[in-house]
Amino acid sequence: MATVHTTRMLIIGSGPAGLSAAIYGARAGMKPIVVQGLQPGGQLTITTDVENYPGFRDVIQGPWLMQEMQAQAEHVGTRMLWDTIVSVDVSGRGEPGSPFRAIGDGGDVYEGETLVIATGAQAKWLGAPGEVEFAGKGVSACATCDGFFYRGKKVAVIGGGNTAVEEALYLTNHSPDVTLIHRRGHLRAERILQDRLFAHPNIKVLWNQKVERFTGDPGGAGLTGLELVDTVTGAVSTFPTDGAFVAIGHDPATELFKGKLAMDPSGYLLVEPGTPKTAIPGVFACGDVMDHIYRQAVTAAGTGCMAALDAERFLAEREFAAQQEKQAAE
Ligand code: FAD
Ligand code: NAP
Repeated sequence: MATVHTTRMLIIGSGPAGLSAAIYGARAGMKPIVVQGLQPGGQLTITTDVENYPGFRDVIQGPWLMQEMQAQAEHVGTRMLWDTIVSVDVSGRGEPGSPFRAIGDGGDVYEGETLVIATGAQAKWLGAPGEVEFAGKGVSACATCDGFFYRGKKVAVIGGGNTAVEEALYLTNHSPDVTLIHRRGHLRAERILQDRLFAHPNIKVLWNQKVERFTGDPGGAGLTGLELVDTVTGAVSTFPTDGAFVAIGHDPATELFKGKLAMDPSGYLLVEPGTPKTAIPGVFACGDVMDHIYRQAVTAAGTGCMAALDAERFLAEREFAAQQEKQAAE
């Protein structure tokens, strides 16, 4: 039978943003509920080495970091629930009797006086053979995360938008030999980024090339090359490389909020600049679901913290106003 779960802070998503919001919310006595979704722990659970999360001098593992965050959130009083939200209703005011409401895929109902959306985003992948086998063994979708592992090596970036160009430029910090591979003859990226790309001495561009497959030895040397097909002539070639960064965009997990919350043209939730506040008082968005630029665990955790602090303030202000009103009426 479906159960109704009520809380002062309902958090959808259990990545760094959701769990950081939970830690702050629980410590503020808000007894948060985190609905974990299909990927408990979020994107970091599908990677291995994490070297840029502050506080750890040695390399740590993504899944371990997320287990620790969850343990900390539970330790301070968060309830973690294994469910996936299939619909949300943000028409309430967040008050008892008019809560924000979410429905899980088994029919359970979640009611929150505040709602924190931390559903993240997923990198788009090419779907070419070898991509999955070489993930973490030469194939990545995050230069900021993994570029460091290719110091002094040859790398390729696949894509032609702003993300691809920025990834290629970023990779020049580590690699002396970066090649941007694009399926068409011109880029979609902004002109200013293109100018920087073309002017960079360590970046080459391969035009009209589609990655047909990733090649190498997943059990040994890892990725060693890409099989390319010329989209104009059909010619097949091999491109040797140590690393390939797929940079063809991300999909924010915002399907649930279509028509309910404002989004940019790519589907990222819009918030008041510099805050996690959506246009609906009491509803907050944090992490990759509202950030198409930084997309890091530490920035997701930071905005998760901000969401919890703002949720707490929202409730405190509302309760103070209600108290004033009551006193005035007496
Ligand atoms: P996510 O981590 O994406 O978590 C989203 C959460 O929402 C998940 O728990 C999911 O189950 C849940 N969810 C989604 N939809 C629903 C729903 N309908 N109902 C309930 N729950 C739902 N960053 C770094 O800082 N350093 C790194 O080294 C690094 N390496 C990376 C390696 C890889 C392979 C990838 C993919 C990313 C890496 N990143 C790294 C980026 C980092 O993982 C993200 O920036 C970060 O995880 C974003 O956190 P988030 O909490 O916003 O979202
Ligand atoms: P994008 O603009 O949609 O570009 C995606 C690129 O990947 C396109 O060049 C596309 O090729 C290519 N691509 C898509 N699917 C492919 C496939 N299956 N095989 C090969 N190539 C494929 O995505 P984005 O670059 O991630 O940018 C998304 C949004 O975020 C944009 O609005 C962008 O402006 C914004 N953004 C802004 C900044 C910034 O302001 N600094 C930084 C990053 C992103 P085609 O060109 O042939 O379609």
